[in-house]
Amino acid sequence: MISVDLDSTLNTLIYDWLEYINEREEKHYTINDIKCFDEPILLKYIEYIDNPNLYDHLGLLDGAIEFIKELQKIDDVQIVSVTQDHHLKSKEKFVATHFPGVPLINVKDCKLAHTKNSWLIDDKLSNIKSHIEAGNGNGIVFTNGEYRYNDNSDYISMGDYGEIVKYIKMKQQQEQI
Ligand SMILES: [Mg+2]
Repeated sequence: MISVDLDSTLNTLIYDWLEYINEREEKHYTINDIKCFDEPILLKYIEYIDNPNLYDHLGLLDGAIEFIKELQKIDDVQIVSVTQDHHLKSKEKFVATHFPGVPLINVKDCKLAHTKNSWLIDDKLSNIKSHIEAGNGNGIVFTNGEYRYNDNSDYISMGDYGEIVKYIKMKQQQEQI
């Protein structure tokens, strides 16, 4: 099983939120200014994320659909996300629209039950430390080409989707030898 985080791993959530803030503040904040969702600059514009229709306005990161299709050639894929009740409808619609047939799993404060061939891909941007954990060393931090702090040796950092697909394929092949 390959579990893929939704927010800012597949969709544009943090990037759109920063754009919203930058427009109002006439600033140029980037992802490098944000380490977690408790960042004061984000909390100042919490109405952005509190919108129950939030996911109706989000886009996808370039290549996200292709990424999921490539992963599906390797193994079963599920999308994992910590979901607030008021976002549930909008989030389910988003996943069903862009990734039809891929299950959306609502996770909170859990380690995913992993076998040795299972994976978690997560951008690790969260206000709940380790809300979803790989637990067995098969974790990948998706940095989207940016720097992302990673102090968990269960995770390896990677900048783009293609690199992740190649790495998982290579590891799966090693397991079979
Ligand atoms: Mg995320």
